[in-house]
Amino acid sequence: MTESVAIREVGLRDGLQSIATFMSTGDKKEWIARSVAAGLSEIEVCSFVPEKYLPQFSDAAEVAAYAGLRRDFVAVALVPNVRGAQRALESGIDKLVCITSATESFSRANLRRSKAESLAEIEEIARLRDRAAASGPRVIIQAGISVCFGCPFEGKVDDDDVCTAAHAAVGAGADEISLADTSGYGEPRQVGRIFRRLMCEMPQVPLAAHFHDTRGLGLANVLAALQAGVRSFDASLGGLGGCPNSPGATGNVATEDLVFMLEAMGFETGIDLEQLLGVRRFLTAALPDVAMSGHIAAAGPPKGFMQR
Ligand code: ZN
Repeated sequence: MTESVAIREVGLRDGLQSIATFMSTGDKKEWIARSVAAGLSEIEVCSFVPEKYLPQFSDAAEVAAYAGLRRDFVAVALVPNVRGAQRALESGIDKLVCITSATESFSRANLRRSKAESLAEIEEIARLRDRAAASGPRVIIQAGISVCFGCPFEGKVDDDDVCTAAHAAVGAGADEISLADTSGYGEPRQVGRIFRRLMCEMPQVPLAAHFHDTRGLGLANVLAALQAGVRSFDASLGGLGGCPNSPGATGNVATEDLVFMLEAMGFETGIDLEQLLGVRRFLTAALPDVAMSGHIAAAGPPKGFMQR
């Protein structure tokens, strides 16, 4: 039996948040529709940050409502606070991503609050979610833990701090945990070690990985997490993006390169690579001034490469 690996497209959130050019709401919806047609089953569609910080997401409510109504994929939104969570829940989104951090400095720079305050916020969001679940579906909360493998302000991050943050987030009400290499500091051995440890410590909690390819180790880190047992990865089409509060950070691992690697290894992603490359061509046309990365779009799949 072929083993499945889940890939979540995060380009519409993590990719677009570092791009000043506003992508039209129509183009965002079309990107979503084309991604679903290519086989993506989970897409982070927007961020409910206040418009004054990121005008790119001024249409978050409309994009989320469109995504939430479709029901043919898991629609995810990033929510920085209770107010954002309220708006996301009203829009009919399936999953909320709440952010906490492995280090105090990054928490203050990125979220403008301490780690403890970010956990209190998740607790409050979980209460809100529980109240909403009384009269509707139970929305999943995933806690994304920033800078798990190195911090642009503090440098090396202790494994214990990552695990403490993960346990605290679950304690606050998170159903799933995603470990993020926000600034591309991680290396494969470290990645494998931390994921193996967390899988032992919290076997009941779904774990996901979010890698940026800032220093070229994105796919190597995916492989390390994969070997540790992780089966859920974030990726961004064309490697779009970065992080406004993480100096020098480039985009996530490119979705199309990740699909290629996993399919070539014999895993099933459910995503049609040819069709996905078509979505990338759409994106290139929609964002003509934005540089994209990724290898498979440039070289094409190797001769004899076949998807099941
Ligand atoms: Zn990211």
